Amino acid sequence: MALMTGEQYIESIRKMNMQIYMFGEKVENPVDNPILRPSLNSVRMTYDLAQDPQYADLMTVTSPYTGEKINRFEHIHQSTEDLKNKVKMQRLCGQKTAACFQRCVGMDAFNAEFSTTFEIDKKYGTNYHENFKKFMNYAATNDLTVDGAMTDPKGDRSKAPHAQADPDLYLHVVERREDGVVVRGAKAHQTGICNSHEVIVMPTISMGPDDKDYAISFAVPVDTEGIFMIIGRQSCDTRKLEGTSMDVGNCEFGGVEALTIFDDVFVPNERIFMNGETEFAGVLVERFAGYHRQSYGGCKVGVGDVLIGAAGVIADYNGAAKASAVKDKLIEMMHLNETLYCCGLACSTEGYPTESGAYIIDLLLANVCKQNVTRFPYEIVRLAEDIAGGLMVTAPSEKDFRDEKLGKYIDKYLKGVEDVSTENRLRILRLIENLALGTAAVGYRTESMHGAGSPQAQRIMIQRQGNLAFKKELAKKIAHVEE
Ligand code: SF4
Ligand code: FE
Repeated sequence: MALMTGEQYIESIRKMNMQIYMFGEKVENPVDNPILRPSLNSVRMTYDLAQDPQYADLMTVTSPYTGEKINRFEHIHQSTEDLKNKVKMQRLCGQKTAACFQRCVGMDAFNAEFSTTFEIDKKYGTNYHENFKKFMNYAATNDLTVDGAMTDPKGDRSKAPHAQADPDLYLHVVERREDGVVVRGAKAHQTGICNSHEVIVMPTISMGPDDKDYAISFAVPVDTEGIFMIIGRQSCDTRKLEGTSMDVGNCEFGGVEALTIFDDVFVPNERIFMNGETEFAGVLVERFAGYHRQSYGGCKVGVGDVLIGAAGVIADYNGAAKASAVKDKLIEMMHLNETLYCCGLACSTEGYPTESGAYIIDLLLANVCKQNVTRFPYEIVRLAEDIAGGLMVTAPSEKDFRDEKLGKYIDKYLKGVEDVSTENRLRILRLIENLALGTAAVGYRTESMHGAGSPQAQRIMIQRQGNLAFKKELAKKIAHVEE
């Protein structure tokens, strides 16, 4: 099958029978729901860009497994060039949506599963790698969007999965059958799951021998019986219900997360990629997290480009663009943003092949990348707010602006430079507000902190990979220390 167009993608999601809940009600038509639709549009962009000849080299590749042309979001990285192109593709998608475009979680899960299943099979003679490849080629050939579900609710953080008061706080096998397993549990903060065709479920932490039932990985369609999603609230989300465009800031795109419940879901044997091999849970987690920490050196940079652009535009509209202090703030924003990009590219350039042949990033540099992402977007937002001025949070609504009596006063008193309309000035301010405090702040700020693992998770990896002992030896040698 050929690549899907954006429209075909939307219609393919429409055909699915997902169980989605929001504000205490079942969403009967999620595709046309005004709160959910912008996030679907963001995923659609990954299809639209793949159809555009200008971006064909970045967005599509020839599958080394089927020889077909596939979307890069379904690709197993074959070289450091592939790893770099992944980051470039994500920056592009961030620039075009100013939101989380969601499809990367599946791509990162693909790559983590590919090498991990290969190594499990080598050790145990299991059939997980073939199972995974079959699923992967099915998804790639049909140009499906696949979600990757890792984060369990985790309950008491001091206790292992099997030791929790409620055994369901980590997703686990509750029944073993001849033809498969039944699983129960939940995955929290599931980015884009309601816009996906399939979901790859993975364990969330390293596990010990007592956690056998929790060391489970598999893929199922997201409308499988027993799966349902409860959509997460975002700041200012109901502005999307007002039927106006100015106040939402980002008129077309957004991201979405959901608490996803697996209420006794059956998984057939051929869709299982790990089942009880506890020592590989940590390997899979580390690889997925590594790939996703690399991802943030692309997607957040693309969104940052839009925010920096918005700060530059509002400086023009306020008549402040020539002030040296403003120029310097824009330079600082660009410096921070490009530093993140450097990290994304560096961990890709230093990538290497795993035993399976698939390429993986340099884990130390990928963790440094994400650690910087937990900080720099906050500073970029701070500078954007500084340049924007307080009006980004005090401006009246679009309804007031359109009001016959009030509109002319808003137009008159909130005008900046003469040749720019008040409406355009307010639109840009709302975009900055959206990225700093509104629905997109989920993806640009808090997700920068906690997505792909919270800051401490990266610090543990930096400690592990940073080789302090080697550095100590260097110092001793230079100082002629003899012990
Ligand atoms: Fe992709 Fe970034 Fe969203 Fe993760 S946060 S799914 S890397 S756009
Ligand atoms: Fe994320």
